[in-house]
Amino acid sequence: MKTRQIGIIGAGASGLMAAVSAAWTGEIAAQDIVLLEQQDRIGKKLLVTGNGKCNLTNQDCSLHSLQDYYRGARAGELERFFSNYLLEDTLACFRRMGVLLTARNGYIYPLSGQASTILDAFRFELERLGVCVKTDCQVRKVQRQKDGFAVETGKGILHFRRLILACGTPAGRKWGEGMDGYRIAASLGHTIRGPWPALVQLRCAGDCWKGLAGVRCIAKITLCVGGKGGETWQEKGELLLTDYGLSGIPVFQVSRFASCALAKGRPVRAFVDFLPDFEAGGEEWEAFCERRFDSYAGRRAEVFFAGLGNKKLLQTVMKQNGLKPQDEIGRKNSRQAQRALDSLRHWEAEVVGTNPFSNAQVCAGGIPLEEVNNDLESLRAQGLYLAGELLDVDGKCGGYNLQWAWTSGAIAGRQAARAYKN
Ligand SMILES: Cc1cc2nc3c(=O)[nH]c(=O)nc-3n(C[C@H](O)[C@H](O)[C@H](O)COP(=O)(O)OP(=O)(O)OC[C@H]3O[C@@H](n4cnc5c(N)ncnc54)[C@H](O)[C@@H]3O)c2cc1C
Repeated sequence: MKTRQIGIIGAGASGLMAAVSAAWTGEIAAQDIVLLEQQDRIGKKLLVTGNGKCNLTNQDCSLHSLQDYYRGARAGELERFFSNYLLEDTLACFRRMGVLLTARNGYIYPLSGQASTILDAFRFELERLGVCVKTDCQVRKVQRQKDGFAVETGKGILHFRRLILACGTPAGRKWGEGMDGYRIAASLGHTIRGPWPALVQLRCAGDCWKGLAGVRCIAKITLCVGGKGGETWQEKGELLLTDYGLSGIPVFQVSRFASCALAKGRPVRAFVDFLPDFEAGGEEWEAFCERRFDSYAGRRAEVFFAGLGNKKLLQTVMKQNGLKPQDEIGRKNSRQAQRALDSLRHWEAEVVGTNPFSNAQVCAGGIPLEEVNNDLESLRAQGLYLAGELLDVDGKCGGYNLQWAWTSGAIAGRQAARAYKN
């Protein structure tokens, strides 16, 4: 029964980074690092990131901006990890593996425009270093032993001095899959917050959605949790209306707050401004409405509203306010017309749920940061390191989640290798 130095469970973004980083320290022989992956190939999820282009980090990633992009119960503490590995380290790492990168609006991608370039870089580097990779090797159970861990896999029991848990989460996985990391961590004494789907679509109440499906427009969404005076989050960008509710990047960005609140039974509402370039509540909007009434008095409702947005949306606001397209706009229905105009600025929807984990890009919640030290070593099980999305850290769209995978993987890999020396 041979005990190997480092076992890494999960060959996704953080596990791959952990393996390469551990080997790069030169503290242990690469052959003594074993990467265990349940699927038939390593890094499969990487291939679908960024719509197949892999948005691997963001030029905006800096210690000053962490609070703008990362969420989680202890997001304010993330500097203790990111101060050891951030944007420059990520760029240097991929440069070292021979990958040319490019930036678009601050989002960083491989120059090839192919996520497979990033996966190939890891594959070839692991091969060059001689790290041991075992695919089709699902870890079922981990037990602590006096000098390390016994890891039960479908291919037998393996023994490691140190273990890095990098199993990821159910986000983007088939129903019921992706819970192993939480289960193993819990079996070793960790608590699990949530998890909740994040970067995901919002499902809304109401019967208007079928008529709105397919509408795309630049809009501002304000998510409100807890009723009047509750917390709010705001995002602007391209919104997509679907037959069940709201989608699109700005919706994804606020979705984790909806997920967490709904799980606690708190009410969630979304307000959409379909004309976000008017100053909210300002003179300009009122003056605009007045002009509209002056210029279009006596014209049909469909003419009055024409040009103010997507036709399906305009038809819906007219209908919701009791106006038919052929109705003449005049004194008798001016209130309805004003309400319809206003609803383009303050469209309100009750959020009743989110799409499931399989539609989510990441998970909010996970293993609390209070349960790891600055090296990402577990405070519950010595010799166990945690990396990636399993921890209670989730980022906005824009490369921030992969940056966390690289940061946490690199720290866990390096420190597991260095700790062995001690
Ligand atoms: C569709 C989609 C697009 C995305 N696009 C982006 C993007 O462009 N930019 C960005 O920053 N983020 C993006 N993300 C998020 C990003 O992919 C994740 O945050 C990141 O991959 C998390 O890395 P991880 O190592 O924690 O987990 P994963 O990458 O999920 O890796 C976990 C690995 O562990 C393996 N595993 C699990 N359990 C076991 C077990 N018991 N035994 C052995 N192996 C196991 C899994 O098979 C998997 O290979 C996207 C996510 C999705 C779903």
